[in-house]
Amino acid sequence: MNNFSETTKQYLKSDSSLFIDGKRCTATGEEITPVINACNGKHIYSLRDASNSDVDAAVAAARSAFNSGWKTMGPEQRAGLMLEFARLIDEHSEALSELESLECATPISISVSTIRYWCAAFIRYYAGWVDKIQGDTIPGAPFLYPDNQFLAYTKYEPVGVVAAITPWNAPVAMLILKLGPALASGCSLVIKPAEITPLTAIYVAELALKAGIPAGVVNIVQGKGETVGQYLSGHTGIDKISFTGSTAVGKRIVIAATGNLKKVSLELGGKSPFVIFPDANLEDAVPAAAMACFFLSGQNCMAATRLYVHESIHGEVIKVLTNIAEAMESGDALNPKTQLGPLISEKQRQQVHAKVEKAVEAGGVLLTGGKIPEGPGFYYPPTLIDNTEVSMDIVQQEVFGPVLAITTFGDDIEALITDINSTIYGLSGSVWTKDINKALKMVDAIDSGQVGINSHAALIPGVPFGGNKQSGWGREFGYEGLLPYLKIKAVTIKY
Ligand code: NAP
Ligand code: MG
Repeated sequence: MNNFSETTKQYLKSDSSLFIDGKRCTATGEEITPVINACNGKHIYSLRDASNSDVDAAVAAARSAFNSGWKTMGPEQRAGLMLEFARLIDEHSEALSELESLECATPISISVSTIRYWCAAFIRYYAGWVDKIQGDTIPGAPFLYPDNQFLAYTKYEPVGVVAAITPWNAPVAMLILKLGPALASGCSLVIKPAEITPLTAIYVAELALKAGIPAGVVNIVQGKGETVGQYLSGHTGIDKISFTGSTAVGKRIVIAATGNLKKVSLELGGKSPFVIFPDANLEDAVPAAAMACFFLSGQNCMAATRLYVHESIHGEVIKVLTNIAEAMESGDALNPKTQLGPLISEKQRQQVHAKVEKAVEAGGVLLTGGKIPEGPGFYYPPTLIDNTEVSMDIVQQEVFGPVLAITTFGDDIEALITDINSTIYGLSGSVWTKDINKALKMVDAIDSGQVGINSHAALIPGVPFGGNKQSGWGREFGYEGLLPYLKIKAVTIKY
């Protein structure tokens, strides 16, 4: 605590349970949620959950801000406010990254670079779209108006008040992913972050206000998913839900949204494949495979947790991978040298470990890791399980921990493709080869929202990201990421 910046220390003393209509306020729910430091298991902070009437107040504030000038604000002014917001994120990135590393144990080197460089760039990118949201003019109505004295055009309008429900991994980036396209479109928001990572959300909302984004455009309610999240997703004052989280909760969101047929976009789980062909440059591919699986201790949706390696290079690949896994620096998230932080909770660690034990019982061969370490914190070592196959749960299910399932393939590419496409997920994936024909054949065959060639999961603001199959509905990032926040109006004129 003593090493924190003064801003962070002050912030931790404040009550940060609600942010409504541009003001912090105290929640009135019954329950208290503790925030735990995953690096040592110690209590950091307690937060009162929002009540239903707190959520009602946030939705009302968002509606009022939407209708009183925000939805009709001119593009130059809107983009200007977003650019100032991006500048403030950059300016406050030290405190924001300290808070993020404290609440969800993201290694500080990663939270600093994500927040300072990536989050600010993402908001700037969407600020650039504001004056390019434009419709079409559409010619021709020959049967209705043969004289052709007829014009049709389309215009985009903001979809309205958005409920954004976000997960605990990379909490600042998760908020920013919603804020970029929502603000650019002219929507207002009620955001519910994961209950276990509430610290950064109000900080970000206050920066938006400081940038000049009107009070009520960004509101934060905190509390548990089953209560606060469920109430918000069923709320008839909400026009759209943008959800990031697990596939199981995504399905509940869809059901909750039916009352007033809210628009829904979903960014859900994944089980991304990483395929190494024998002609790949192994010096690049093997460290990238380790990074793609172990980044954020495997607690990210695009994690490559299935490695497909050709039988002719299997021995060499697993030897290097094992060395990399065993050399990774794990430790306190606030230590700049740390590469791997702990898992988010003891519950998560137990779930990850149970999946590893089950994989070994089913015939998987543990190459390294797979043991719960002694000592405080919820650490779990980078774990490699060889000899896995398509029928095993470890190959089919999301683990959300640093666990890589390794499967060997031969020369039957069709069988490889069938295996790759066998899971319920389709978020990301990558193929590693110098043969462009082989790479492009795999790109066509893999059923996922993103496929990398000699790179895995490009989180670039302009590049669409999202899932096929049960990995989601819709896309975030890029122009495609803007569309779910807009509705199109067709205007027809007889003259
Ligand atoms: P989660 O349990 O699905 O929770 C996500 C959010 O939904 C949290 O804010 C949670 O609140 C809330 N929630 C839970 N139950 C709800 C309900 N019945 N109604 C409304 N909201 C509810 O996911 P998580 O464990 O936080 O995050 C991990 C999952 O997110 C993984 O599956 C991962 O793959 C996925 N993810 C996907 C992406 C992507 O872009 N595709 C990115 C990151 C993560 P509480 O936690 O406060 O209960
Ligand atoms: Mg949860």
